[in-house]
Amino acid sequence: MRRILVAGNWKMHGTQAMVKSLLEGLLAGSQPGGNVDLAVFPPFPYLAQTQALLQQSPIAWGAQNLNPVAQGAHTGEVSASMLLDFGCRYVLAGHSERRTLYGESDADVADRFEAALAAGLEPILCVGETLEERENDETEAVVDRQLTAVLDRCGVSGFQKAVVAYEPVWAIGTGMTASPEQAQAVHAFIRNKFDSLDDIIAGQLRILYGGSVNGSNAADLFAREDIDGGLVGGASLKVEDFLAIRNAVA
Ligand code: PEP
Repeated sequence: MRRILVAGNWKMHGTQAMVKSLLEGLLAGSQPGGNVDLAVFPPFPYLAQTQALLQQSPIAWGAQNLNPVAQGAHTGEVSASMLLDFGCRYVLAGHSERRTLYGESDADVADRFEAALAAGLEPILCVGETLEERENDETEAVVDRQLTAVLDRCGVSGFQKAVVAYEPVWAIGTGMTASPEQAQAVHAFIRNKFDSLDDIIAGQLRILYGGSVNGSNAADLFAREDIDGGLVGGASLKVEDFLAIRNAVA
């Protein structure tokens, strides 16, 4: 049985005071156990504080990006080994904001995914179509291209210790959540693609939905066969909103 993962992507938000109150609130309010894992993705400067607050807890943490190079003259960048040094379990790869605002290509995303795996981090590969692509009936072609770039590099075995997040770009930060039917259809497409390569890996692969998930829509989304949790942006910045999503898991 796949465990549900509810992952909070804080993006470029936070202060030390906010990190303290958010994490203390999550620690106080999340019931341990059940079939749910929680994870948070703070900005780099708050990883040390996150590690200090969460290290004895069941809540995991990760980073929002990494540079695929091990070390060297890359001013402003952060490597996989640095993330491990701060106890990260996960790292996002190919979030749509990285792809659109910072020009990360499919090949760049594959580089990051590969470097994360090699270091022992669990990458969360983000894929998803723009509104224009959906309206042109290109959703499956786009998602297929984004997955294939990583599969060609790392093979299906690269997904034994990885997560996929389907995040339609038009639903991120817009309040326009994909309907459970729309999301399930793409999740099934993704799982079928993996199933054609390795049915065991496909059966174990966690596929998260991301795009305006909140306490009111999470239960319907997470009830779908191929939706194994959520990657949550805005609603992960408030204790009660994030816990409402966590508590929506049946
Ligand atoms: C995200 O940042 O991955 C995301 C899904 O954001 P939001 O929940 O705010 O749409």
